[in-house]
Amino acid sequence: MKTDKTQVVVIGGGATGTGILRDLALRGISGILVEQGDLAHGTSSRFHGLLHSGARYAVKDQAAARECLEENKILRRIAANCVEPIGGLFVQAPGDDPAYVDRWVAACQDAGIDPEEIDVQELLQANPVLGTNITRAFKVPDAAVDGFRVLWGNVNSARRYGAKIMTYTRVTAIHQSNGRVTGVEVTNQLTGAKQFIECETVINAAGAWAGEIAALAGLELKVIKDKGTLVAFNHRLMNRVVNRLRPPGDGDIFVPHGTITILGTTSMTVDNPACSQPEQSEVLRLLQIGRELVPELENYRMIRAFAGVRPLYQPGNAAEGRAVTRNFALLDHQQLDGLTGFVSIVGGKFTTFRLMAEKTVDLVAARLGVNKPCRTAEEPLTAPVADELLQRGKKVFGIPGAQKAAERLGDDFAKVVEQAEQKPELQKMFCECELVSLAEISHVAQDETCFALGDIRRKTRMGMGTCQGTFCSYRTLGALAKYDRFAGNHRAYLSNFLQKRWKGIRPVLWGQQLREAQLSTAIYSSLFGMERMK
Ligand SMILES: Cc1cc2nc3c(=O)[nH]c(=O)nc-3n(C[C@H](O)[C@H](O)[C@H](O)COP(=O)(O)OP(=O)(O)OC[C@H]3O[C@@H](n4cnc5c(N)ncnc54)[C@H](O)[C@@H]3O)c2cc1C
Repeated sequence: MKTDKTQVVVIGGGATGTGILRDLALRGISGILVEQGDLAHGTSSRFHGLLHSGARYAVKDQAAARECLEENKILRRIAANCVEPIGGLFVQAPGDDPAYVDRWVAACQDAGIDPEEIDVQELLQANPVLGTNITRAFKVPDAAVDGFRVLWGNVNSARRYGAKIMTYTRVTAIHQSNGRVTGVEVTNQLTGAKQFIECETVINAAGAWAGEIAALAGLELKVIKDKGTLVAFNHRLMNRVVNRLRPPGDGDIFVPHGTITILGTTSMTVDNPACSQPEQSEVLRLLQIGRELVPELENYRMIRAFAGVRPLYQPGNAAEGRAVTRNFALLDHQQLDGLTGFVSIVGGKFTTFRLMAEKTVDLVAARLGVNKPCRTAEEPLTAPVADELLQRGKKVFGIPGAQKAAERLGDDFAKVVEQAEQKPELQKMFCECELVSLAEISHVAQDETCFALGDIRRKTRMGMGTCQGTFCSYRTLGALAKYDRFAGNHRAYLSNFLQKRWKGIRPVLWGQQLREAQLSTAIYSSLFGMERMK
């Protein structure tokens, strides 16, 4: 069996795990991150994409609200290319308790958020989709955040300091000797090959799977798996995040991202952490609640539905779903269970991943005798793209194409522009919805973590726009043929990719989306003859 050696193995390639890897690397601690799928395989690609201001939590949990506010400010600073600083609104609709407003305003002020009341007419002018029966509205510093970009920013930053990641690699055993962790056994999910990684510390950042990982070490860790479904609309319905001004509940947040809007979420306890299948009944419920703020909601095309599973830490009592805290818990299993070198970080929010990583690495660094302080709040994930480079990019990809590619690629933008300047055939836009060029696809395809069309999608957004891959997936497949890692069965690549898209399209299959799906089927079955493809 192949072996490797490092100081720390991090399990889980979500926001928490990649944030931890970066923090370790910046403190000079060697680390390998192991992820069973691609990065963002779990909840960190299945959320609203809301960078909370903290206002949502102010009444129920002051500490969580303050943490969100602080981390919101830090992420805007260190990850500017991942954050759309659009601001947020809390609006009250008929039926919402008017007495809640004063409590909420006071709680926000206590947490340092300071909501500003705005005139309802002004609100409706700027956001005409909202219903005219809205009674009050307040501005807060919410923002939209791109989960994929944050994760890749974390990993690229960590790699610059020597960290390593292994995707499609599952931890299948945790080895220990005399009450101390000695390493992990991993299985490559694509080849079946097994490997042992010797290490001093294992960090369990496996989100909704954290209980399963603890069980591999023979420990009990209770994580409630709370599934939430969201719907993506093919329109930027409003220009700010819109939250319902009432205690947190289902379907009360709209988050615009670029040209689309995400509405969510539901809340339902599930047994399986991999349970990310959205149901039509959940979509209908979201529409019913969403209509109370946007009366014409059903007239806007839904592109797809998707679902994620919240890992809610459960120290003992029997509460479920929304009643359980959204806060995080850092569990030192040396203290709790007498197992040295094993730490779990559970719960929390995407917004607070950096803080969760900092607290985890503070503990691990102290145990390893490393006294370097955390630097993740100071050093940016990527350097800002220089104006001169952006101008060169605009000449090869056009103005919006260059802007989007620069935001997505960060430090790698220079290499992609250079390639496109040298080989004009690479300037072609393969994904028109998201403006992804062949140059960008070719660059990403060379990354050692790219094995499938879906990996290209997560790294570039190819196939995530209006057509949901109808046009660009076929083109991309052709372009990948020359890379060794894509030398397998092309029909399988394409059908896997389309099947994953279909999973999200099926629950919203009526109206405009049904028409689009029929067009897509006709193109693949009749025009491209997919059934006959080898
Ligand atoms: C519907 C919904 C909406 C949300 N909205 C927001 C929001 O708007 N803003 C916000 O701040 N937060 C939001 N959250 C919360 C936020 O998304 C999560 O708290 C966060 O993404 C969790 O990140 P994580 O890294 O801990 O877990 P994950 O992203 O799930 O990462 C854990 C990883 O561990 C991997 N793994 C598991 N087992 C193994 C194994 N044996 N070997 C190797 N790898 C393994 C998994 O594949 C997974 O990729 C939302 C959550 C949900 C469900």
